[in-house]
Amino acid sequence: MAILEINNVSKNFGGLAALGDVNLSVEEGSIHSLIGPNGAGKSTLLNVLVGLLEPDVGNVLFKGKPVLGQTPHEINQMGLARVFQTPAIFDDMSVLENVAIAAYAARDGGFAFNVFETPASAKPCIDLAKQTLNEVGLYEQRKRVANQLSRGDKRRLEMAICLARKPDMMLLDEPTAGMARADTENTIKLLQDISDRGGITMVIVEHDMSVVFSLSKYISCLAQGRIIAEGVPDEMRGNPKVIEAYLGTESE
Ligand code: ADP
Ligand code: MG
Repeated sequence: MAILEINNVSKNFGGLAALGDVNLSVEEGSIHSLIGPNGAGKSTLLNVLVGLLEPDVGNVLFKGKPVLGQTPHEINQMGLARVFQTPAIFDDMSVLENVAIAAYAARDGGFAFNVFETPASAKPCIDLAKQTLNEVGLYEQRKRVANQLSRGDKRRLEMAICLARKPDMMLLDEPTAGMARADTENTIKLLQDISDRGGITMVIVEHDMSVVFSLSKYISCLAQGRIIAEGVPDEMRGNPKVIEAYLGTESE
């Protein structure tokens, strides 16, 4: 069953078709990768999904409900969450506080810095935060100030902040960008774990093909705003259209 359906979505910036008639269906519980050369429209598509950009035409259904026209916050409340990069972390707060605040914000639909000032409301959030930190392998570091974490651990924290909101679907834009090989391997394991344990559907934009091929159940390739190829990993490995799309931009 599809948890996310993108139908005939187009988005132009001036004369440039960043997305041209994109159709994409994501199966519930799967890891679905979105690949394609720089400028293909991958980030634009994610921005449409989380409500940051309104497409010119098309519609998007998440769990059968329309996404377009909803605010980013409303879409988040529907269970669709993007894993943010570092700006989503409160640098001066502890690792645990960062995750507890996310849990609190998700539960009450609000945003509160005083989560720790009212013990009754704090307890379930802190419990959930601890459990989530355990899941991503950061429990031992829960008392550290967030900005003291290594780059790899910051990525784990972003993941925990996202997971504390109990999403049904996570969107990740280049989760291994800038990582050394060992961290990339750890991230692959972590994402596989989260997927196996929580049944959370994931859409991953990723350049590292080792990540794409080890995690994906399904792969869609965008080029110049259009889906030019899609299929299971075996159908995509060595696919001439995909190779051509990547070579085409490299030679420009
Ligand atoms: P990708 O993430 O696949 O590298 P993007 O979605 O970032 O690609 O960009 C797709 C195309 O749309 C690119 O040509 C990019 O320059 C253009 N683009 C993206 N965002 C904007 C914007 N806000 N205004 C104008 N052009 C944009
Ligand atoms: Mg991008």
